[in-house]
Amino acid sequence: MDIEQFRKAGYQAIDRICDYYYSLEKRPVSSQVQPGYLREALPPNAPEAGEVFEKIADDYQQLIIPGIGGGVIQTTASDAALVSIVAARSVFVKQHPHIKHEDLVIYTTTETHSLGQKAGLILGVRCRALKVTVEDNFALRGSTLLTALEEDSKRGKHPFIIVATVGTTSSGAIDRLDEIGQVVKSHGSIWLHVDAAWAGVALACPELRDTVQLDSINTYADSFCTNFHKWGLVNFDASALWVRNRKNLTDALDITPEFLRSKHGDEGTVIDYRNWHLGLGRRFRSLKVWFVLRSYGQEGFRKHIRQGIALNKYFVSLLRPPFTLITEPSFALSVFRLEPPSLPAEQASQVSKKSLDDLNRDFYSRVSACPDILITQTLINGMFCLRFAVGAVRTEKRHIDQAWALLQSHAEVSINSWIGS
Ligand SMILES: *Cc1c(COP(=O)(O)O)cnc(C)c1O
Repeated sequence: MDIEQFRKAGYQAIDRICDYYYSLEKRPVSSQVQPGYLREALPPNAPEAGEVFEKIADDYQQLIIPGIGGGVIQTTASDAALVSIVAARSVFVKQHPHIKHEDLVIYTTTETHSLGQKAGLILGVRCRALKVTVEDNFALRGSTLLTALEEDSKRGKHPFIIVATVGTTSSGAIDRLDEIGQVVKSHGSIWLHVDAAWAGVALACPELRDTVQLDSINTYADSFCTNFHKWGLVNFDASALWVRNRKNLTDALDITPEFLRSKHGDEGTVIDYRNWHLGLGRRFRSLKVWFVLRSYGQEGFRKHIRQGIALNKYFVSLLRPPFTLITEPSFALSVFRLEPPSLPAEQASQVSKKSLDDLNRDFYSRVSACPDILITQTLINGMFCLRFAVGAVRTEKRHIDQAWALLQSHAEVSINSWIGS
């Protein structure tokens, strides 16, 4: 959809909402369709090619409005991790009723998003961050997990879940799910949650499925989460959570008071999604995903993902000293910093890590003050770095060129003032 088509579609959508309001008095107050009717009415896959808005909106009117209902989508990746951890704990405690709550442990890594720690805070469960190293590109290895398990076993501690990541926030690191999965499988009672909040949507592209480790996810993961609201073209919020055995989740969270009981729920003919998360009410987020998938088509969605990766590759191809990549580019993310190479010998000897950090902090603050670009910062192995991420739908090659020109000019000013200082 180009901008003018979007304008027309927007007007049409408003018209339809107004027509709906006008028709309200003539409509039944509750839905008149049978549970499951929509699955029959809709094709099982997103269309290959994108469709025009009018057609999608017609289907919405005719097929969806009559059954106005739910989807399996969470608010955020943090909520998805939290409910997965609750389910994992419930399974573990049922299997080990004698183990004390204070001896339970959540495993994350030193690069895991704060969602692991936050879940620990909310649940009152200790969280242990396993150390990952630059040599492994910040991926968690099976051997590290195994060592931690042995240590905790000796201390009488009981890890019951490992939160692994595909595409960490800081550097896009990908934990080794094949190795972790083997360890988890041989251990028997540890839940594997895969947080692919940012990078998981890359699974849309067949050529990226090995990188995302789809086989290992399918073989080992107990739960898997990816956000459509990041790289997946859907506006906030839409975080998709898959659970291998949904009963583990609903057994942990099912509370059904009398006023929420229904004939279909009692018969098990509908899924009561309120038992999949904290909130009782639901926002029908699947509708946004549906509109996006239909209007882009699988083809358009894949094109968007591939374009982000290609533009990041292009950015990397422009980098030259003193710009230095700090980790391997990951999907559409590059982590870099300034490392001026050719200082006079007496100055070079004084260039400690600390002063390179000073340089990069100064560089980052200059770039941040600029209204044309948004770059974020991170610490990698204690080094101050900058993150360049492509992901917006309207980003083109010329924007990368502009970004590069801008970074170069700020770098020059920063380096000159750093050398002079
Ligand atoms: C962004 C991100 C999160 C947090 O996502 P929310 O949906 O805001 O909770 C978690 N993990 C990773 C790897 C992320 O990139």
